[in-house]
Amino acid sequence: MSTVEFTCSGCTQRIEVNEEMRETILSVGCPVCTTPATEDDFDE
Ligand SMILES: [Zn+2]
Repeated sequence: MSTVEFTCSGCTQRIEVNEEMRETILSVGCPVCTTPATEDDFDE
């Protein structure tokens, strides 16, 4: 399973996510602080 690292631009929290979680974060924002996320916040 491939994972990517999400680094929130709002709270700087780093979270390892899979593709499904990535799509969720892109649509609803950071799971910690709800700051909207962009593709640039994911590091493959
Ligand atoms: Zn955040």
